[in-house]
Amino acid sequence: MISIQLKPKKEESLLRFHPWVFSGAIQHIEGKPAEGDLVEVLDSKRNFLAIGHYQIGSIAVRAVTFENEPIDIDFWNRKIQWAYAMRVSLGLVNPEKNNTFRLVHGEGDSLPGLIVDVYAETAVMQAHSVGMHETRQILAEAIVKNVPQVKNVYYKSETTLPFKAPIAPEDGYLIGKETVSLTALENGLEFHVDWLRGQKTGFFVDQRENRTLLERYAAGKSVLNMFCYTGGFSVYALRGGAELVHSVDSSTKAIQLTEKNVEANFPNDKRHKSFDEDAFKYLNNLSNIEQKYDLIILDPPAFAKHREALRNALKGYKRLNAKAFEQIKPGGIVFTFSCSQVVTKEQFRLAVFSAAAESKRNVRILHQLSQPADHPINIYHPEGEYLKGLVLWVE
Ligand code: SAH
Repeated sequence: MISIQLKPKKEESLLRFHPWVFSGAIQHIEGKPAEGDLVEVLDSKRNFLAIGHYQIGSIAVRAVTFENEPIDIDFWNRKIQWAYAMRVSLGLVNPEKNNTFRLVHGEGDSLPGLIVDVYAETAVMQAHSVGMHETRQILAEAIVKNVPQVKNVYYKSETTLPFKAPIAPEDGYLIGKETVSLTALENGLEFHVDWLRGQKTGFFVDQRENRTLLERYAAGKSVLNMFCYTGGFSVYALRGGAELVHSVDSSTKAIQLTEKNVEANFPNDKRHKSFDEDAFKYLNNLSNIEQKYDLIILDPPAFAKHREALRNALKGYKRLNAKAFEQIKPGGIVFTFSCSQVVTKEQFRLAVFSAAAESKRNVRILHQLSQPADHPINIYHPEGEYLKGLVLWVE
């Protein structure tokens, strides 16, 4: 294995188990590793620190272990076993009620560069590093071996791998074939998951617990679900006894998926309507009080994917939330989210605060929300925190 030696004092973050080595910390590389190779990281005195996947770019190594151990089939098996054991202990594996969960959340599961979501019999795997791309078949086998419900593993990395890498990843089944049933169960509700055509791995598992909270607040309310995608929040609101639920998304495909999911759980339910429209336009057009809502959900796509986009993203969150505060009925509730990793909890809260002040409404924070336990944050890698939400009472 090729070794990478760090400059003096650059070992500190690795000694605290942070899994990234930045290229600026490197003193010397013995040999010429290819992107994706396993390399050994040493401190300036050549003491062992970690083993990880080599990458080209500002993050040069993503550590998979801090122990000097063989990285073989057994190693990857143990990693998947731990990840699965945690989901079992969280109560997420329950064939009658819930067969949808995130099995691997990258650094949060000490598997940097790997995402795996499980939907009934199918696991959808996404590699964000060439190292994980090259390990895909071993990982797929470890998943089928250790997760009893999984029979198929679909690989979906065409858009997630570094585009400069000299590989041409192809999406497709690594094990098994398309399942007969594409229906996944989340908390007893059915969702059609389309990993072939859908965004990310096909479904946003990360809102499960926040949808459950929404269900508790929905009884008797008129609910507006903005950026509905698969209609997750809408279906929970209907089960919670909402008086009416309106779902809005600017993608026709998303609206079709929402309608399909509503129909699967609440056939012919007249309480639901969907609108294929831009969110801002929709909010602007609510002109009279009869059209206003008791409960609004704002779960937009990440407004900032890079640090450079941060300022505009914060403006976007402010503008969107201000619109909701302007348009919600007195005594209404807003569930507002940001899934941009580069936007901190504090920055998001400040953007929402500015929106509230602008609307001159009395706003109180009822809950501060985050990502669920199957999207764990490695305590040594705080960058893994990305989803934040606020539930607000608007007087
Ligand atoms: N709330 C969803 C996830 C939202 S993903 C869930 O619980 O699963 C973001 C969605 O926003 C996508 O479906 C995308 O089509 C939609 N979208 C992006 N820009 C939009 C806009 N300007 N107006 C309305 N919808 C938009």
